[in-house]
Amino acid sequence: MAAAGAWEPVIGLEIHVQLKTRTKMFCRCASGYGVGGGENTQTCPVCLGFPGALPVPNRQAIDWTIKLGLALDCEIASRAVFSRKNYFYPDLSKGYQISQYDLPFCRNGTMIVPTEHGDHRVGIVRAHLEEDAAKTVHVGGARGRIGGAEISLVDFNRGGTPLVEIVTAPDIGSSDEAKRFLQLLRQTIVELGISDAEMEKGTLRVDANVSIRPKGSTELRTRCELKNMNSFSYVARGIDAEVARQIGVWESGKELRQETFDFDGASGTLTPRRSKEEADDYRYFPEPDLVPIEPSAELIARLRAELPELPATRIRRVEQALDLEQSMVLVSGGLDRLWEATVAAGAGGKAAANVIANNLVGARVDPSAVSPGELAALISARDRIPRQAFDQAIGKLAEPGFSAAPYLADEAVSDEALLEPIVDAILAANAAQVEAYRGGKTGLLGFFVGQVMKETGGKANARAVNDLVTKKLAG
Ligand SMILES: [Zn+2]
Repeated sequence: MAAAGAWEPVIGLEIHVQLKTRTKMFCRCASGYGVGGGENTQTCPVCLGFPGALPVPNRQAIDWTIKLGLALDCEIASRAVFSRKNYFYPDLSKGYQISQYDLPFCRNGTMIVPTEHGDHRVGIVRAHLEEDAAKTVHVGGARGRIGGAEISLVDFNRGGTPLVEIVTAPDIGSSDEAKRFLQLLRQTIVELGISDAEMEKGTLRVDANVSIRPKGSTELRTRCELKNMNSFSYVARGIDAEVARQIGVWESGKELRQETFDFDGASGTLTPRRSKEEADDYRYFPEPDLVPIEPSAELIARLRAELPELPATRIRRVEQALDLEQSMVLVSGGLDRLWEATVAAGAGGKAAANVIANNLVGARVDPSAVSPGELAALISARDRIPRQAFDQAIGKLAEPGFSAAPYLADEAVSDEALLEPIVDAILAANAAQVEAYRGGKTGLLGFFVGQVMKETGGKANARAVNDLVTKKLAG
């Protein structure tokens, strides 16, 4: 077993974000998933790369790239240039991708990531704008990969959609930190409204560069790249698997070779890919069909003024009241604003975090439709409300005009004389369930309580109903 304690991981991330502009990066074809029409219908001479077709940049995509750069505390270029990245692949019919090379829109940024040992700054080397390649579909091979495939098809609908590539410095020291960085980055992107950033749909893609070094040293050793990880958990597990592999190589006295791997999250295996090209191989040169872009100071000021308070900032406030894990769940889930308002309305911080992160999310309640006051009232009375009634109330929180009052013990009907006839009627109408309950299916209690609550329009005291139903079923 390798001595993991003697080594530390050095991790950098490359993130591709598909912008949700209405049209593609350099033409007016519809962009994005679900545009419809079937394969190869959203195309034109520009995005198919016909000779002589001229690109026109998408202003929205440029504004959004700058906005993201500002959110990541980057310097915004006064002169940005699109460059050709030359390579051949069937999903790139032009033989080059329009990207950015030495003059990207955004450089030298930072994102703060909270860790158990305090805030950690992750450098953002650059964020640049480029066009996506088309999508290849490999048929007949294992897991849709090219190796062993009988036939490969190309769908150019995706070709030319705007993509922002974000490159971090190798500043990330663990798989957990990488995951937290990605969660906060994703939430930032979502809140800026520039992408859905969903890994499962490919609108957010993550590659990780991983190396290790003896703990405490500052050297940078050979790194390997991990690709094809389609969830944040898989990114973390892929990094752990690669770190373990590298420790094994170094400790056996061998040299680590620079390689690229696909990580299969389901089986936990790393499969080697083609060797990595160096920048020289791409023969970058400025795109001759596009002029340099010079974002004005006014534009940058306007975009900066539009920035909301960002997740990386908010988590530092939330963290003062909660532990790191809870804070991450709230902030990266976009739940912290409701949490703050609920606490301000009188609920306890930890109790509110628990209910919001677990019950609310579990019941798929839209946090933006919840009244913090009503939620705080429910949370404060939680100990006096039976579990089933509490869950029921949570499920209804987002309904217009929801009131917690009927669920609160001291305001709800708890008079046994009023409740008894209703309980009797419900039990009589559900004889089979009563028999099942008495036969040992005690989980049906919630069903009876729910029926009574429904019958009373939610006005009964759920605890009183609970007690009465239990008594009746026992008798
Ligand atoms: Zn097009």
